[in-house]
Amino acid sequence: MTGAGGGDRLSKEKMRLLVDGDLPAHDVKQLIHAKDKDPDRFWTYLEILQERVPWSNKILLRISEHLYIVRKEPEGRIVKCDCGHEFGDYRVNWKLSSEIFVRRSREALDEIYTTGIAPDPAIVEVREYYCPGCHAQLGVEVAPHGYPPVFEALPDLDGLYRDWLGAPLPDESPNWYQDRSTSVTKNWAGQDRD
Ligand SMILES: [Zn+2]
Repeated sequence: MTGAGGGDRLSKEKMRLLVDGDLPAHDVKQLIHAKDKDPDRFWTYLEILQERVPWSNKILLRISEHLYIVRKEPEGRIVKCDCGHEFGDYRVNWKLSSEIFVRRSREALDEIYTTGIAPDPAIVEVREYYCPGCHAQLGVEVAPHGYPPVFEALPDLDGLYRDWLGAPLPDESPNWYQDRSTSVTKNWAGQDRD
């Protein structure tokens, strides 16, 4: 699209508000339903995110409020918190290298379920995941005892960049889109045996 200078500025400004959660509901609706979506929107979005973090690794995707998949050499694609803490290979569930607080008792659950409708601690537990760098809460999940940490975000980055954005990543490889979490938990199991 050409000649949309003013429009582009407006859309970046609006997106800035959207990223902050400050865009009025009416505008959010308008952006979602807009017929001629700005094809550069994703790049603008990445630009805004990049301007806000204190480090310079290139952001490939934001996966939660604080976490990003970024490019870093020599590792390639890693998960990084906005504070700068690095969780390593993005194919390994970042939760495995976070600080974890587990609520297993009725008392511990009642601290967060204040309405009186709490899950049964005999069946499930609540796991809270925190960043070892800035201690921000990165995630919460309710799961049966012994159930592995839920891997919420293993995006097909090559598919996204190649097929949807038309800009394949330079390090494209079929090896990226694989869950490698068990490589870490297998090591733990080995350590337990020793
Ligand atoms: Zn952090």
